[in-house]
Amino acid sequence: MTLGQRAAALRQGFGAIPDEPVVEDMIVPVERLLPTSEAEELIGLVRQIADAELAPTADTAEANGTFPREPLRTLGRAGLLGLPYDEEYGGGGQPYEVYLQVVEEVAARWATVALTVSVHTMTSWAMSAHGTDEQRKRWLPDMVGGEQIGAYCLSEPHAGSDPAALSTRAVRDGDDYVLTGTKAWISHAIHADFFTVMARTSDDGPRGISCFHVPAGAEGLSFGAPEKKMGLTASPTSIVNLDGVRVPVENRIGPEGAGFGIALAALDNGRLGIAACATGLAQAALDASIAYAKEREQFGRPIIDHQGVGFLLADMAAGVESARATYLAAARRHDAGLPYTRQASIAKLVASDMAMQVTTDAIQVLGGSGYTRDFPVERYFREAKAMQIFEGTNQIQRLVIARQIAKFG
Ligand SMILES: Cc1cc2nc3c(=O)[nH]c(=O)nc-3n(C[C@H](O)[C@H](O)[C@H](O)COP(=O)(O)OP(=O)(O)OC[C@H]3O[C@@H](n4cnc5c(N)ncnc54)[C@H](O)[C@@H]3O)c2cc1C
Repeated sequence: MTLGQRAAALRQGFGAIPDEPVVEDMIVPVERLLPTSEAEELIGLVRQIADAELAPTADTAEANGTFPREPLRTLGRAGLLGLPYDEEYGGGGQPYEVYLQVVEEVAARWATVALTVSVHTMTSWAMSAHGTDEQRKRWLPDMVGGEQIGAYCLSEPHAGSDPAALSTRAVRDGDDYVLTGTKAWISHAIHADFFTVMARTSDDGPRGISCFHVPAGAEGLSFGAPEKKMGLTASPTSIVNLDGVRVPVENRIGPEGAGFGIALAALDNGRLGIAACATGLAQAALDASIAYAKEREQFGRPIIDHQGVGFLLADMAAGVESARATYLAAARRHDAGLPYTRQASIAKLVASDMAMQVTTDAIQVLGGSGYTRDFPVERYFREAKAMQIFEGTNQIQRLVIARQIAKFG
């Protein structure tokens, strides 16, 4: 079934979805220049689902730490959990440029859901790009078809910014590998259906790391308690323990020793997803600020008419649009098959720093109200902070950009 057919089927089944956005005063639809009419249809569908299914429940679910499994199933049925992958394997066949704009639309309604889509899409990339035909036929349709969610297992307690220092072992034993070690900070691990795990097959530094597909339920797989995070609380982040987890040799993705390169290339993809998440989150903060500034009056007029506030909003808008342009430019390089490592790091750096600034300013625009939980901007602020940290801190993005500049000018 093509993406268009899935979207049409879903639309028919969604009698409850209103034609107009439910929260139109909070989220102003961004006018997008999309490459095809199918992409336009897709964005329209995403807005409908996100307004009806995500935005109304985000606040409560974040307060209660409830993982959005059902909303993710809805997105999966609409084909949104495998958008940039081959239609042949059940993916959406969309360019990255379109996929990222979908992520941004979702993030503007609920960042945790967008983050989950982005991490899952990055996790599936290893199999899509480096799996054999046989592996792809066997596993990819489930990964990108909408029912399953994947977790990306690179970080370890002592290997964060320096993942080449990871120590999880994969020891060959006949036709199997036996994996032992501890992965840290793994997003939605306890809800994942599969894990893409980087583990050491030799002591040869980064060249001694290999990549494995580990299904949920494998014996020896267990999880720590969710970290007590300051934001994105609906997305549980936890330790993944691998205690003698046995997987057949067929579960190794790519050759032995190729895992570190696969992990970094997956992160290039993922960083674009985080840039789109950050841009959507900042757009939501901007929209909430504009709506409030038009309503709230001080000194006898709406505060938006005070130049100090108007200029703050202007800077916020400039930041959001610049970040969007930056991630789209990187995505177009990706879609054209050009190298884009540097551009992915720039997009992630620019968008997450911008989101931190814009969400901080949003609290300022709302004054005392912005500092309360009666409005969502304080949540956006807490959520933006994580985006400067995961998938490589912004110091590490600068390191990547500096190395790229030194190498290629
Ligand atoms: C909410 C959340 C979700 C996450 N999800 C996942 C996941 O799904 N999968 C996964 O594998 N990982 C995940 N991570 C882990 C994340 O990628 C790491 O936290 C991140 O890479 C930083 O590692 P660290 O926390 O160990 O910090 P450290 O590496 O200890 O860094 C501490 C500080 O030192 C700085 N620093 C370190 N080295 C340098 C250097 N060479 N130059 C300049 N500054 C430096 C860092 O920028 C940072 O400011 C997640 C993290 C969070 C917070």
